[in-house]
Amino acid sequence: MKKSKKIVVIGGGASGLVAAITAARNGADVIVLEHKEKVGKKILATGNGRCNFTNEYMEISCFRGEDVERIDAVLKKFGTKETLHFFDELGVFPKSRNGYYYPKSNQAAAILDVLNMELKRQQVEIVCNSHVTKIEKTKQFKVLSSTGTYMADAVILAAGGKASAVLGSDGSGYSLAKMFGHTISPVVPALVQLRGNGTFFKQISGVRADAKISLYVDGELLGEDTGEVQFTDYGLSGIPVFQISRFAALALYQKKTPKVRVDFFPEFTGEELTLFFEKRIRQNGEKKAGEFLVGLLNKKLVPILLRASGVRERTLISEVEKERLERLIDKCKGFEIEITETNSFEQAQVCAGGVRLNEIDIETMESLYEKGLYLAGEILDADGICGGYNLQWAWATGYLAGKNALKGKKYD
Ligand SMILES: Cc1cc2nc3c(=O)[nH]c(=O)nc-3n(C[C@H](O)[C@H](O)[C@H](O)COP(=O)(O)OP(=O)(O)OC[C@H]3O[C@@H](n4cnc5c(N)ncnc54)[C@H](O)[C@@H]3O)c2cc1C
Repeated sequence: MKKSKKIVVIGGGASGLVAAITAARNGADVIVLEHKEKVGKKILATGNGRCNFTNEYMEISCFRGEDVERIDAVLKKFGTKETLHFFDELGVFPKSRNGYYYPKSNQAAAILDVLNMELKRQQVEIVCNSHVTKIEKTKQFKVLSSTGTYMADAVILAAGGKASAVLGSDGSGYSLAKMFGHTISPVVPALVQLRGNGTFFKQISGVRADAKISLYVDGELLGEDTGEVQFTDYGLSGIPVFQISRFAALALYQKKTPKVRVDFFPEFTGEELTLFFEKRIRQNGEKKAGEFLVGLLNKKLVPILLRASGVRERTLISEVEKERLERLIDKCKGFEIEITETNSFEQAQVCAGGVRLNEIDIETMESLYEKGLYLAGEILDADGICGGYNLQWAWATGYLAGKNALKGKKYD
């Protein structure tokens, strides 16, 4: 009698659960091994508990990695439309906020709940508290875990990266991939806060400013973003900082010194800001320099910018020398901070780096080194900016792995 194909999915996160559902729907006998006490812990934490599960704007510029063309090829197969359809079938009605999709119920739990309902319906076996330590391949795969040994015709490795280990992904997936000869591009924290060099951080901790953040390494601009920047007692946080953080992390990994330039007046060019200041000085010439910037910048930032420009707070603004005034305008347009560190993997939302995509058949997510081994999710060298892109990558690669792991030879 023909038995259905046995597939073991390692990791019950976003990519593993979609892979398991897809493989089971196609008739495979699927088991998920998850080392936490329950599946999908990270899904519950996404989008501040609301889960931004995809985005209307699905452009390759929103993704980073050594091989963005391969990322693009995956997303062309399974993009926003396919994600919305997949979750619509499971019962999730999407709500768009400027193109960022959330479940209408505004609860990340809704995403996990519908995945769990479908796993049950498809009779996928879930084994929790099962830490996989080794995968061997002879005729079949032999997956060794803390709950026993599992034989499989195909294995989907969906163990995530090493960001936010408390939610499950501790980097052990990389060791499992290496057992089959896979190589890993440098793994660094991404979507993470930056720590900077400066004695002023304590003074401005808690300040939020609408600013443009630009990241330079060796004088080269590697990334920039505009939005609400938050200053902390050690450095910088906020969405624009997260968006560029992976470039800083990679530079630090390469022992380089990344620098951030904060433009507090992104709505003005340098020339426009000069004209604006000149006009304001004509109107407010009697004000002291410390008073002149009030109403333009958060009060706590004023002494920092004046000090950096060599302008005394008590000097009348109309009496500040031209050269110092120019310096002040320069600082307002590009206050430079040397980045010394990023926060740890524990605080990062994702990892940059991972299993190199040129070692994967991007049509199927099968390893080019081991037939029957499939990889999906954040374990791979692809990271997205904030906005639902990382989950999109997880759903897409999980779906392709689940669909294709079933193909290939069934056994009698
Ligand atoms: C706080 C936070 C908020 C986020 N918000 C968003 C958002 O709103 N939108 C978005 O797109 N992305 C968001 N992300 C990123 C997104 O959640 C991840 O990129 C995505 O979940 C990765 O899915 P994955 O399946 O590859 O890995 P994971 O979700 O990390 O799943 C991997 C699973 O494998 C298990 N595992 C690992 N090793 C083993 C082992 N050896 N044996 C058995 N099991 C193992 C882990 O316990 C885990 O359950 C957020 C991340 C965080 C931390």
